[in-house]
Amino acid sequence: MREAMRRSIGREQPPPGGLCAGPTCNVVQSAAHARNCVRTGRQNFRHDDVKHAILAAVRQMPGLSAANVAVEDHFPFSAKGEGRLAMDITIAPNTGFIAPKPLKEGGAAAPPIALTAGGLQPGQRGVLLDVCLKDETAQTMRYEASKRSGAAALAGTKERFNTYPGNYCPATYTLFPLVVEHGGRIGPHAYVLLKAFASHEAAKTLVPRGQLLARWRQRFSIALQRTLSRSTMDCMQATRARDGPAAPRPDT
Ligand SMILES: [Zn+2]
Repeated sequence: MREAMRRSIGREQPPPGGLCAGPTCNVVQSAAHARNCVRTGRQNFRHDDVKHAILAAVRQMPGLSAANVAVEDHFPFSAKGEGRLAMDITIAPNTGFIAPKPLKEGGAAAPPIALTAGGLQPGQRGVLLDVCLKDETAQTMRYEASKRSGAAALAGTKERFNTYPGNYCPATYTLFPLVVEHGGRIGPHAYVLLKAFASHEAAKTLVPRGQLLARWRQRFSIALQRTLSRSTMDCMQATRARDGPAAPRPDT
């Protein structure tokens, strides 16, 4: 949390004076690099931390549980012969959770799909939740992000849509990429889905929807800040451990 506070006031941990300890990464270590290096395996920890925080919260919603909310599930893809794929979080169809209508990759409403026999109405369909963390300050994103806020979240959403087309049945499941930028901004699909979560809970409890939505945003934010802080500190520590004691830190 101290890391999160530092970033929010524009202060990062000083560079430890060494290279990233990733075996194939020769970049000079810094807080910004430690946060988003993808050569140490920590990108998987960051992703999984956020995934598990969201999974736990989804399973606690009324009517949902471990029985109908799966993690790393191959099932939605196996019908299309793509069992090698797995979805981060899958809400089964017909759980009572009213899934939002499908959106196109940019966030606009998608045209309705022709229902075949046995096809489900949009609200009855299952939901495929693909968690993705995007660093809007990464070298490749800076230009786009400077022109348009949310550009990184949108790029992440498009990547997800390119990964899964035709690999699942859209009459049974709707894909909602849960893309979140390191600064906390979420993509259009994630926002629509969180609103649906809040509506679902509000209908079953006496808590106002706005308050529930704020709680969902908070969950995302806390999971994100916690994992980014951990990633930064672990990665810096790995450099210090390998390259010897760090120079004295001027700010402690
Ligand atoms: Zn690195």
